[in-house]
Amino acid sequence: MSATAIPNMQPLQAMLNARTSTPSGDVAGRRGCPLSDLRDRLRRAGLRPTRQRLSLGWLLFGRGDRHLTAEMLYDEAMRAKVPVSLATVYNTLHQFTEAGLLRQLALDGSKAYFDTNPSEHHHFFLEEEGQVLDMPDCGITVDSLPDAPEGMEIAGVEVIVRLRRRGASGRKA
Ligand SMILES: [Zn+2]
Repeated sequence: MSATAIPNMQPLQAMLNARTSTPSGDVAGRRGCPLSDLRDRLRRAGLRPTRQRLSLGWLLFGRGDRHLTAEMLYDEAMRAKVPVSLATVYNTLHQFTEAGLLRQLALDGSKAYFDTNPSEHHHFFLEEEGQVLDMPDCGITVDSLPDAPEGMEIAGVEVIVRLRRRGASGRKA
């Protein structure tokens, strides 16, 4: 056995190992640990904090607000050496969405984007590059909505402003 240098992503696995295999002790003084926060967050959302959910949750929620597809998260998981299948990534994203931890965005018919900030906000979508950006808070006001149809009420308003790079559309007939 040779002790090869291990790249950056190792701490995730090391932490998971440490935290899941020691019933107690050792981890004292680690209060406020993002991983235990994540575990609490999953429990509060009604999800059992399995190893896979913790690993994927760690990747998803550890870097601020983001928008990503299952394929993007799967790539990150592979790079972090998290042993999951693409199907598991899909299932986990949908479970997180149902539990209210993520919001699924209707941006592109062919690909589902998930937002790690589940609160209501609006987006810019750069279609050609599949890039999603949060609109600044003051970005838009929607103040004249039609009445909801009989017996219904408006539950939320989601605005997507589609962008393209200037000059990129070259309309040459
Ligand atoms: Zn967003």
